[in-house]
Amino acid sequence: MRKQIAAANWKMNLTLQQGEELLKGILANAKTLNENQQVIFAVPSPYLQAANTIVGETKNNFVAAQNIYSKKSGAYTGEVSVEMLQSLNIQFAVIGHSERREYFGESNTFLADKVNIALENNITPIFCCGEPLEVREAEGQNAFVAKQLEESLFHLSSEEIKKVVIAYEPIWAIGTGKTATSEQAQEIHQYLRSVIANKYGATTADEISILYGGSVKAANAKELFSQPDIDGGLVGGAALKVDEFVSIIDALN
Ligand code: PGA
Repeated sequence: MRKQIAAANWKMNLTLQQGEELLKGILANAKTLNENQQVIFAVPSPYLQAANTIVGETKNNFVAAQNIYSKKSGAYTGEVSVEMLQSLNIQFAVIGHSERREYFGESNTFLADKVNIALENNITPIFCCGEPLEVREAEGQNAFVAKQLEESLFHLSSEEIKKVVIAYEPIWAIGTGKTATSEQAQEIHQYLRSVIANKYGATTADEISILYGGSVKAANAKELFSQPDIDGGLVGGAALKVDEFVSIIDALN
């Protein structure tokens, strides 16, 4: 059975004190997770260590970096490496969020390098894909996201790709309050799984968690997460509020 995951993406929000309060509030109020469920907090890099201390020994809660660089160490001012994450016992990193792609020009091939260095160093990539509005309006979303997977992930072996968590986040739904309907989301998740199955076989495709992101909130999480190919969510705005994110965790299957 593939993992069901609620992942919080704090983006560039909150002070350390606000973040600590949020994290403690969520952990104190969220349901106990079963073996198959995970909650992951992608926090700003200056807060990784503090967040990991708070998450501590709690069961199936983890901290993630929001980004990594494609090199292990060296003269790359301002970047965060997988080696640094390892030294903090961080096991996850978001890779290829649409904001990184858009504002920092991250390409599919550059992201392939990041995926590689993460996997080589036992960091689980939460790899983001998703189409912009104009592509959706022209009904080109399937080809667009398939290309993102092909160019950033399909060089991996089946053992390797099984370690990747995929997050499908249509750009037009991020931070806009416009969620894809659960039917729209299920349709493209099923398509993504079929693209993976064509390349790696159905058994491998069935083991990969595919999260939905884009205006997930308490009010729509249950319906989204109950779709057969949606294995949880990557949540921005609603992950900054204790009650909202606790309800989203509750909605995990
Ligand atoms: P949102 O962000 O939930 O605020 O739409 C999701 C994301 O960008 O990961």
